[in-house]
Amino acid sequence: MKVWKDYQEKNKDRFLAEMLDLLRIPSVSAKSEHKADMLKCAEAVKKNMLAAGADKAEVMPTNGHPVVYGEKIIDPSKPTVLVYGHYDVQPPEPLELWHSGPFDPVIKDGKVYARGSADDKGQFYMHIKALETLVKTNTMTTNIKFLIEGEEEVGSPNLGKFVAANKSLLKADVILISDSSMLSMENPSLDTGVRGLSYIEVEVTAANRDLHSGTYGGAVANPITILAKMIAGCHDENNHITIPGFYDDVVTASAEERALINKAPYNEKEYKDDLGVKELWGEKGYTTYERTGIRPTIEINGIWGGYQGEGAKTVLPSKATAKISARLVPNQSSHKMTEKLLAYFKSIAPSSVTVKAFEHHGGEPYMTPIDSKGYKAASKAVETTFGKAPIPVRGGGSIPICSILEKELGIKIIFMGFGLDNDNLHSPNEKYNIENYYKGIETIPYFHKFFAEG
Ligand SMILES: [Zn+2]
Repeated sequence: MKVWKDYQEKNKDRFLAEMLDLLRIPSVSAKSEHKADMLKCAEAVKKNMLAAGADKAEVMPTNGHPVVYGEKIIDPSKPTVLVYGHYDVQPPEPLELWHSGPFDPVIKDGKVYARGSADDKGQFYMHIKALETLVKTNTMTTNIKFLIEGEEEVGSPNLGKFVAANKSLLKADVILISDSSMLSMENPSLDTGVRGLSYIEVEVTAANRDLHSGTYGGAVANPITILAKMIAGCHDENNHITIPGFYDDVVTASAEERALINKAPYNEKEYKDDLGVKELWGEKGYTTYERTGIRPTIEINGIWGGYQGEGAKTVLPSKATAKISARLVPNQSSHKMTEKLLAYFKSIAPSSVTVKAFEHHGGEPYMTPIDSKGYKAASKAVETTFGKAPIPVRGGGSIPICSILEKELGIKIIFMGFGLDNDNLHSPNEKYNIENYYKGIETIPYFHKFFAEG
């Protein structure tokens, strides 16, 4: 629609500047020292919603960080789209690996570098600018509601309760989320699901204090060695996970779906070069996209113990700790898997150490059908602005709240992510391509149009 394009073209510099302002607020949900920043960011989101033309926007409390709710209702008899996103970000550490400040956005080679640029501030903000486009050009055909939370990166511990308590406020016909990536600008794709997550921490203790490694070494277990062995035993020589029952509930993807996944353009050399790896690694018998989409995995997210300062210290540490997460696929239960992992790591520990294990957070896997009205609207919208129908693919990441949103609100979720896999989400130098940002703002109004027409 020319009227949209004209409006967006005229306002594009401001659209970008506003996103950068949001990125300057260090809204790190995991750290209590950022509590005030969280509130500041929520207020900024609210202000932006109102400026974009929302009738109403509110910062609503939860038992944790607040939720920002906003809406523009044109006609209650028209379909309603609920946009979900999150204004919190991952901690930026390790800071020394950033080329510029994580909360000091820098534009280089057409990319915005800052924590939260792709995940998810830059992406949910496209929806606010899409709303503005629709309002200012007087072309709205759907009601639009926003649910922008502040705890996605810590597992959305309070959002389920919030949604259950605000069902009528959040009543809608579909949920639209831009918090994922597409294959590439040349080969757009739409995620048909997200993986689930189980996240635990395991602490191994041997002696009751750090010991002299000469006096006691050889006589007392080293917790780092023990923990490393426990972790190393999680995969066999085919990189298949050895934890008993790990694959029990997995719904195997159909041959048709596997064929579809493997039709997605994939260049192994480019994939490897981008990551700087000599070889890929993964479960035998599966391709890269299958490994990251239809198969469950286990990753060690962090491991520490003993002396890590400068120089050498001869010590036999008392403790070693690891943070361990599993990505889950349809029909696996996050709760059941967490119990399984906790029990497993306790059961395999030798009696020379004691093991404590506890849960961090989790979320269920989620799949969306590709024959729904919402998926078709998203597909048509992408085809309109990219000139090519998107390929349906399974997303590897997790959005823990998805299954809860569907259960509480009784509606399907559509994933329309505009990021790229190499956006460095959760890593140093997170970036979002400006082209993708504008393309998202251009595409989203078409979703509303086609959804209303469908
Ligand atoms: Zn995210």
